[in-house]
Amino acid sequence: MGVRETRDLIGRHGVRPTKSLGQNFLVDDNVLAKIAAQGALSAADLVIEVGPGLGGLTRHLAAQAGRVVAVEIDRHLLPALAEATADLANVSVVHADILDCDLASLAGGWTGPVKVVANLPYYITTAIVMKFLEEFPACERLVLLVQREVADRMAAKPGTKDYGSLSVAVQYHAAPRRAFLVAPTCFLPPPEVDSAVVVLEVRRAPPVALADRRLFFSVVRAAFGQRRKTLHNALGGSGLVPGGRDALAGILAELGLPPAVRGEALSMEQFAQLANRIASAKS
Ligand code: SAM
Repeated sequence: MGVRETRDLIGRHGVRPTKSLGQNFLVDDNVLAKIAAQGALSAADLVIEVGPGLGGLTRHLAAQAGRVVAVEIDRHLLPALAEATADLANVSVVHADILDCDLASLAGGWTGPVKVVANLPYYITTAIVMKFLEEFPACERLVLLVQREVADRMAAKPGTKDYGSLSVAVQYHAAPRRAFLVAPTCFLPPPEVDSAVVVLEVRRAPPVALADRRLFFSVVRAAFGQRRKTLHNALGGSGLVPGGRDALAGILAELGLPPAVRGEALSMEQFAQLANRIASAKS
């Protein structure tokens, strides 16, 4: 669907885009095709689409995948969405909040690959991405249109300004790749931020061995919680390390890390070594 068809659909159904639900409809057919192509879809695939809106992306996905399950929270959009997808036998629309959904049930026993392709509502990007990564590891790939800064943070490498706890959390579960940028002019109404497509290839096995996964993520969050502080100060005062700052100084030295190192310098492997060493000090 291009801009004219979308405007017609909006007019016929009296749709007024709701800002608080992140409703910026993508109306550039070339961009929609490029996003769907990142899914590398075939008839064997089931696609879960979050927020189909007026069905522009849904139509491209349905043409390439075996089945599309599209989860939309806003009941006001459902009549327009039903019209836009009326000729597509392989699309099911579920009226729900994606954050309340049981993802395995959405896939409903599909035996082939399951992928997610979506132009996400930006206000809950992180919650949606982490829900899929943590609760639905059977999902092979996520192709997501998100705010450009968030795409950069997901894919960031250690030592860069964008590297933070989101980078480590996403990269623990998946290999991210920023595919391309999408200008605000491709949307109706245009968002106030730049957008980018990020592709997350879900890992079959974790990249690091962890003694205590919860502790690992607590350590990562504490390390980035106060970015301007050294790791020694940020983590030493967090209550996570038995023996506090003194014990932590010894652990950092043992791991060959400089006393004034900051969290943003540590790779995933180094965070894993640190968290595993703290776990052994706790036991
Ligand atoms: N896919 C359409 C497109 O590309 O034009 C619409 C994308 S728009 C950025 C985000 C969509 O997500 C909206 O249709 C919005 O109503 C829907 N949405 C917002 N929050 C949601 C939630 N918690 N669960 C499911 N859908 C949601």
